[in-house]
Order: sequence, then structure tokens, then C-alpha cells
Amino acid sequence: MARQQNTNEQHNAAKGLSAGATVVHWFRNDLRVRDNTGLMAASALGKSRGAAVVGLFVVSPGQWMQHDWSGVKVRFVMRCVRELKGELAKINVPLVVRVAKTLKDVPGVVEKAAKELRAAAVTANREYEIDEARRDERTGELLRAAGVKLDLFHDQTAIAPGDVRTQTGGPYTVYTPFKKRWMELWNERGGVKPLGVPTAQADPGIAGDEVPIEVEGFSTTVDDALWPAGEREAERRLNAFVSARIRRYKDDRDFPAIDGTSTQSPYLSVGAISPRRCVEAALTANEGRLDGPSAGATHWISEVVWREFYRQVIVNFPRVCMHRAFKPETESIRWSDRLDHFEAWKEGRTGVPIVDAAMRALTKTGWMHNRLRMIVAMYLTKDLFIDWRLGEKWFMQNLVDGDLAQNNGGWQWSASTGTDAAPYFRIFNPAMQSQKFDPEGKFIKRWVPELKDVEGELVHEPWELPMLLKMGLEYPSPLVDRGSVKDRVLAAFKRS
Ligand SMILES: Cc1cc2nc3c(=O)[nH]c(=O)nc-3n(C[C@H](O)[C@H](O)[C@H](O)COP(=O)(O)OP(=O)(O)OC[C@H]3O[C@@H](n4cnc5c(N)ncnc54)[C@H](O)[C@@H]3O)c2cc1C
Repeated sequence: MARQQNTNEQHNAAKGLSAGATVVHWFRNDLRVRDNTGLMAASALGKSRGAAVVGLFVVSPGQWMQHDWSGVKVRFVMRCVRELKGELAKINVPLVVRVAKTLKDVPGVVEKAAKELRAAAVTANREYEIDEARRDERTGELLRAAGVKLDLFHDQTAIAPGDVRTQTGGPYTVYTPFKKRWMELWNERGGVKPLGVPTAQADPGIAGDEVPIEVEGFSTTVDDALWPAGEREAERRLNAFVSARIRRYKDDRDFPAIDGTSTQSPYLSVGAISPRRCVEAALTANEGRLDGPSAGATHWISEVVWREFYRQVIVNFPRVCMHRAFKPETESIRWSDRLDHFEAWKEGRTGVPIVDAAMRALTKTGWMHNRLRMIVAMYLTKDLFIDWRLGEKWFMQNLVDGDLAQNNGGWQWSASTGTDAAPYFRIFNPAMQSQKFDPEGKFIKRWVPELKDVEGELVHEPWELPMLLKMGLEYPSPLVDRGSVKDRVLAAFKRS
């Protein structure tokens, strides 16, 4: 009897005509109502078929664990889902929440929810990471067998990753020509306008679910107040940045003690805001042009394009999603096995003040300034000569904005194993970086209080302090002798 009923329902769902049928939008990393391509499509489909739209979110602890998501990110995601539920309620879209213990369970959980909700169709925005793409393939198969279509949309980037192609139709591996083509496409299309919010539907009378904030297996000590959740906060931050700080972005963006960047990365990484909306906002500060009179806005847009560049890298070179170097020849490098050095790096006790300050800030706040990400990544992979994969993983396990494409791109750039990477012979000197980008040592002193009384330039290199002063500090000596760093790196890369 139950089987017969299921078959009837599937048949009706396929036609999309049954009374009470729904269109389900499956939210993943698109936790917003505004300018959400898949949600907008669900709304249009629902209207055309007289079906109500229902939101679905699947809590996936096994998948998140497998992908090294941090406790702070998981909590941020769940807080964003709670905000999302409130935003959806304003347009009478209920949000149902399901749990899938492992990544493998997700397709079955979605199929079951679709059946329960009498879905005529399921929409979702594409995720490009290899495991997620396979999950969607499997979900599509299960849904198809149940007579329900899964419609996937490009939404994570302003221009779909596959659209930005070289003249010979291949993918780009260097950022600058990618950006040039990206901008041409943007202009040829007359810009890419955000979609707005779907109009409210009649109340479908379907009860939504409570959104849990705690997820078993994940915890964090980062204060929620640092990262208020949801699309309203993302929008508030964006507007505050564009109206006040974007014009100084080019000058301020490299100084971690200055609040000079947008801090949009957590919001972009969970999709609480869209990249189209970010560019649209920046254009208002740039006379409507990508490359306009505001050097700050022009530069900021080019950073958003870096994000698009790294997205297309994981689409076109999926090996980087599987812990493989973009440059295969660097796979043979024999990295250092000094795990004690790695531990010291993680805990912010390398004896290099700017590195230690950055690493301590990361575990306390879940975030790190871009200049510092480059410094600590270069230090780990060049000075300590430790495999970039270990650093990449530690970042994912601690960042609120952890994102495979950006994180992998940044790490492989720093390790000189990636696309358009730093050449292996160009190695940052962390003390010089520190003198240049934290000249008064403000950032260092905030996070490394052992050095708060060190005056002048020596805060960047306390190993140069007179012996007596050095002995009074409870601060470690550097782990490695800088003098030998370059030779070691050059020899290893030349051998590879
Ligand atoms: C080793 C390393 C690891 C990184 N890991 C991540 C990560 O896991 N998640 C993440 O979102 N970013 C990562 N980045 C990129 C960058 O550091 C952050 O996006 C940036 O610091 C976020 O701060 P913001 O939002 O204030 O950036 P803004 O300077 O205000 O830039 C605006 C947006 O542009 C994008 N963007 C800026 N710089 C870069 C860049 N270098 N590469 C790609 N996109 C960029 C981000 O989406 C950012 O939110 C990493 C960089 C490095 C070097």
C-alpha cells in the first residue's frame, strides 16, 4: 500500500501538478535570500506550476569533518542558517532541516526530504569541489529515479567558471590574463546585475524546523560577536566598507593593524552575500566602472576576481581538490619532517614575532589578514620547509572563512607549487615584511604581549636585542637560521 502511494506521488511530482506539490530549494553555501540564482529559479518554477517553494538545509557533520571545517566555521554556518530561516519567513518560505551523518548519506537524505515534501523539482546552486560535485551527481540520480528533477545553477561566482576561456578555449592558469578576459566578459554582458529577493508566496502551511546551533563533534572558543551572522550583517559590512574605507583600500590593505579590508570573506564563503552584489556595491564607488577613478575600488574588485580565478582553478584542475600540487613536478619535493617545528608554528612560538602574532590571532579570532596569511604560509613552507598541505589543513581547521579554492590557491601560491605562484627563489624575509607592514609593531604587541615593552625596530627581530634584555624576555629564539633558508629551498626545487 505504502509502495503504491509512493508511486502515485512520484508520478504526480513528475508532472508537477499535484495539489500541495512543492519546489524544494536545497541551500548549501548560498545562505541568503537576496540574489540567489537557484532560489529565484525555484520561485519562478513554483509560480508557474502553482507549487510552494520550501527551503531545505542538510546538517552534514561527517562531510564537514572530512573536509576539515573548523568549529568556528560550522557554528557560523548554523547561525547563518538561523538568520536565513528568518529571512525566508518574510516571503513565506519555510525552511526544513535534516541531518546526514556522512557525506555518503546526503543524497539519500535529500531524496527522502523531497519525497516527504512532495517535491516536483529540487533546485540548488552548484558547488565545484570534487566530493560535492559527486554528491550532487548521486543526488540527481536518486531524485531522477523518484521522478524529481534536480536543477543546478551557477551562482558562486559573478561569471560562471567555464565562461572565462582563453582564445583557444582552454582554462587560464595565470591571473592577469584571466582578469582581463573576465572584465571583457563583464563589459560585453553589460555587467552582471544581482537578482533581488523573490516575491512573497502565499503561506503554504508547512511547518519549518528549529535550527540547531551546536553540531556534535565541533566546538569553538571564538566569540560569536566577532562574526555576527547572516545576510543583513554581510550587507551592513559591505555598505560600511564601500561608503568609508574602499577609497583607501589600495593604501591600507596590507597593514594588519589597520581596519583596511572588507572582512567579507566569511560571508562570501558561506554565501551570505553574492560576489555580484559585492561588485555592484564597489561600482557605486567607481563611477560604475570596473577600472574607474577610485584606485581603491578598482583594486578591491580585482581581489574579488582573484576569488573567481581560484574557483575556476578547482573546476579545471580538480587534482588540486585531492591534495595534489598544481605543478606536478613539485610533488617529488622532500619536505622537512620536523613536526616539532610545525607544532611551534601552529601555537605561535616560532620566535619570529609577526608569524607568532598572526598564528595566535588566528586561533583567537578565526580569521587572518591576507598579508599575514602570505607571511605565515611562506614562513612555514620556505623557512621551516614544511609541506604546504599541513598548513592548508591547519588553516581550514581554524578559519571562519575556510574555503578550499581560496585556501588551496593561497597555500600553493606561497609554496611555489601552484598556478601563477610566487617563484620559488623569491622568499619573504618575515622581519622585513613586519617592518614594512607593521612598522610600529602595533599588531605584534597586541598578540605577543611578551614583546610589549620592546622599543623601536627590534620588536621585529628580538634576537638582535642585547643579551641581557633578551634574557629578560619570555620569548623563544628563532627555530631556524635564516642564513641557510634560501640555499635549502633552491636546492630542493632544483632537484624536483
Ligand atoms: C595562504 C592563504 C590562505 C587563504 N585562505 C583563504 C580561505 O580559506 N578563504 C578565503 O576566503 N580566502 C583565503 N585567502 C585569501 C585572502 O587572504 C582572504 O580572502 C582575505 O584575507 C579575506 O579578507 P577580506 O574579506 O577583508 O578581503 P578583501 O581584501 O576585502 O577582499 C575582498 C574579497 O576578495 C577575495 N580575496 C581577497 N584576497 C584574495 C586572495 N588573495 N585570493 C583569493 N580571494 C581573495 C575574498 O573573497 C575577499 O573577501 C587565503 C590567502 C592565503 C595567502
